[in-house]
Amino acid sequence: MQIIARCPRCKYNWLLGEEAADRRIKCRKCRKLFKVPKLSDVPKAVKVIKTAKGTIYVDQNGNTYA
Ligand SMILES: [Zn+2]
Repeated sequence: MQIIARCPRCKYNWLLGEEAADRRIKCRKCRKLFKVPKLSDVPKAVKVIKTAKGTIYVDQNGNTYA
C-alpha cells in the first residue's frame, strides 16, 4: 500500500510507502518537517483503506482522502 502525504506548507503531495506512517518526514521541496499520521490512529483511514486498494492520502492532521 502507498500513502500520499500532503505537505502542509507547499501542498505538494509526496508518494510514500506504508512504512512512512507515524513518522516525520522532511518535504523535499520546501524542507518543512511534517508528521505522517499512524494509520491505525486515523479512524477514517480504516474505511478508506478498505475501499481504496492502492493509495491513500493523508495530511498531518489525520485527514485522509481516497
Ligand atoms: Zn513542502
